[in-house]
Amino acid sequence: MDVENENSKQEAAKEKDLIEILKEVLPKNIGFAKAEYEGPDIAVYVSNIEAVYDDESLVKNLSSMIKRKLIIRSDLSKLLDPEKAKEKILELIPKEAEVGNIKFVPDFGEVYIEALKPGLVIGKGGSTLKSIINETKWVPKVLRIPTMNSDVINGVRQLLFKESEFRKKFLTSVGKKISTPIMKTEWLKATALGGFREVGRSSLLLETNHSKILIDCGLVPEPGIKGADANSNGENKAYPYLDSANITINDLDAIIITHAHMDHIGFLPYLFKYGYDGPVYCTPPTRDLMALLLYDYVKLVYRSGGAPLYDEKDIKKMLTHTITREYGEVTNVTDEIKLTYHNAGHIIGSAVVHLHIGEGMYNIVHTGDMKFGYTRLLDPADVKYPRIDALFIESTYGAASDVMPNRQDSEIMLMDNIKRTIDNGGKVLIPLFSVGRSQEIMLVLEAYLSNNPKYKIDAPIYLDGMILEASAIHTAYPEYLKTSLQHRILSNRSPFESEIFEVAKGEKDEVLEKGPSIILASGGMLNGGTSLDYFVEMAEDPKNMLIFVGYNSAGSLGRRIQNGLKELTVPDEEGKLIHKNINMQVVTVEGFSGHSDRKQLVNFTQNIRPGPKKIFTMHGEENKCEDLARILGNRFRVEARAPMDLDSIRLK
Ligand SMILES: [Zn+2]
Repeated sequence: MDVENENSKQEAAKEKDLIEILKEVLPKNIGFAKAEYEGPDIAVYVSNIEAVYDDESLVKNLSSMIKRKLIIRSDLSKLLDPEKAKEKILELIPKEAEVGNIKFVPDFGEVYIEALKPGLVIGKGGSTLKSIINETKWVPKVLRIPTMNSDVINGVRQLLFKESEFRKKFLTSVGKKISTPIMKTEWLKATALGGFREVGRSSLLLETNHSKILIDCGLVPEPGIKGADANSNGENKAYPYLDSANITINDLDAIIITHAHMDHIGFLPYLFKYGYDGPVYCTPPTRDLMALLLYDYVKLVYRSGGAPLYDEKDIKKMLTHTITREYGEVTNVTDEIKLTYHNAGHIIGSAVVHLHIGEGMYNIVHTGDMKFGYTRLLDPADVKYPRIDALFIESTYGAASDVMPNRQDSEIMLMDNIKRTIDNGGKVLIPLFSVGRSQEIMLVLEAYLSNNPKYKIDAPIYLDGMILEASAIHTAYPEYLKTSLQHRILSNRSPFESEIFEVAKGEKDEVLEKGPSIILASGGMLNGGTSLDYFVEMAEDPKNMLIFVGYNSAGSLGRRIQNGLKELTVPDEEGKLIHKNINMQVVTVEGFSGHSDRKQLVNFTQNIRPGPKKIFTMHGEENKCEDLARILGNRFRVEARAPMDLDSIRLK
C-alpha cells in the first residue's frame, strides 16, 4: 500500500468532514457564508447573526458536537460602518458603564469595548450585547478597564489591535496545522529539560510520534546583575537544555505556559528570537504578567550593563503569538493533544495543566507551581480532573521538614516584627516577587492596619512601580481572584488602592531620608531589582529589619543572608565596588508562600480525582524532589520518581 497516498486520502476525508459536518447541521436560517480555522477554534461567518444569538444553546451544542470552540461572526460585508456603529454602541450602553476605548477590528468582524463596569455593557442575560449585534452586526468583546492604570495592559491591548492582520494569518495557519489529521498516536515520551531536582529554568518536552510540545520555558529566577548567563554561584546552568533534545526550535508544535514567573517564562522570547513562530498558550492574566516581567527583565539587564538574551522586539513577537484560554476550556493544541487549564492557586492566572493525548490513550496532570491551601488572594488548586495517568508535581517544599506554620500565626508574627521595628524608629524592608507574594502581603497589611487597632502603625508603606503595575493587572481580572476580593474590586473598594499604600516615586534616597517606613520592593531573593538597592542602603543600621516572606533559591543573596552572611561587596552606581556590613535584623516569616508545603502536597495528591497511576516530582532542590517522590510512592502505592534534567521517560 502506498502509505503517503493513503495518508493524504485520509487527510482530505477528515478535513472535508469537519467543515461539511458543520455545514450540514447549521440551521438554514442563519445564512452560512463561510467557515475557517482560527487557532484551535473554528470561525463561522453568517449573514443572519441575530438568528444564532436567538437560539441560546445552538453554539454550545454545535461546539460539543464537533469538539471545537465555535466563534460566530457576521459576514464581513454586512458590517455597519465603524463611525455609525460607534454611535449606536454608545447609544445602547448605559452611561454608568463608563466606556473607554472602542476599537473595531475589521479582520475579525469584532469590536472591543473597554469599560470600567463590563457588566453594564453586557446587560441582563447579555441583552445589551445582543442589541449591539442586531443593530451593527459587529460582535462585541468586552474588556475590563483595570481600576488602577496599567501601562502594561494598555500596551498589550494596543499591540494586539495593531497586529490584528498578522494575528488573523497566524491563527489561520495554526488552525490548519491543528486540523491536519494524523495517524494513530503510537508512543509518548517526556523529557526533563530544566527544573528537575532544582528550582529554575522549568521546561518539560512532550513528544509523540507526531507532536512535540513544551510546557514552560524558564530561566534561573532573577539571574541578577550583568545578564543571565550564569546563576549567582557563577555556574552556567541558567537555561533549559533545549539543545540536548535533538530537535530544532521549529519542530515544536506548541508551547504551554503554566504561569508568569521568570523561572517558567524567562527563556521564552529567546525561542522567538531564534525562529520559533508557533503558538504560546496561557491564561489572559498570564499573558499580561509575562509582558510586565519580561520587559522589566530586559530593562534590568541593560541597566546593570549586561546584554540581555533577547530584547523588546522578541517579547512583542512572543505576545503576538499568544493564544489565551480560560480555566476549563478544552483546547486542541495539536490534532492529538487536548489542553485544559485548571486553577493552581499559586499566583493570578496560574494553571495546572491537564493534557489528554491520543483519543484517550494517556492523560497528564502537570501542576506548574501550585498552592493547595489558604491564601487571601486565591482559591486553592483544583483537584478534579477527567483522567490522570501521570502526575508531574512541584516539590519546592517537598521535604519532611517543610511544614509551614499556621497562617494566622504567620500574619501575627509579621505584624509584630513590623510594629516593633517601627516603634524603635527603624525601617522595614520586605523583598518580594512583584507578582503574587506582593499582593498577598499587601492584603495582609491592609487587613491588619485598617481593622486591628493593636497594629495601628504610624508609618507609610511604600511600593515600587513593578509591584504597583502587577497589582493593577490584578484589578483587570477580578474573576480570577477569591470571591470576597472580587466583590471589593468590583465595588470600588479595592484593597490594592487603599490609602495606606504610597508609591515610591523617583529615587530610593527620598524614601530612605524620611523616618520609619515599611518598604515593599520587587526582587524576592535580593538578586537584583529595587529590593537590592534598598538593602544596600539599609544594611548597616541595626535598627532596620529585613523580612523574608517567600522562597530564596539555593545560592541566592537572600539565602546567603538567611544563612548568616555578615558582609557584602557590591558595585555602586558607577560600578565601583563598595563594602557593606550587614547589621540590620534579619527575620524569615514562613507561611505566606504561594507554594504548597509538604502537608499540602501530600493532601493534594490524596484529594485529586481520579488518583494518578504514576508520579514524577519536579521544581525542588534535589533532596526535596527525592523525599517527596519517596513519601508519595509509599503512601499511594504507585510508581513515583524524581527525574533529573535530561532524563527521558517513556510514558506509553
Ligand atoms: Zn511560580
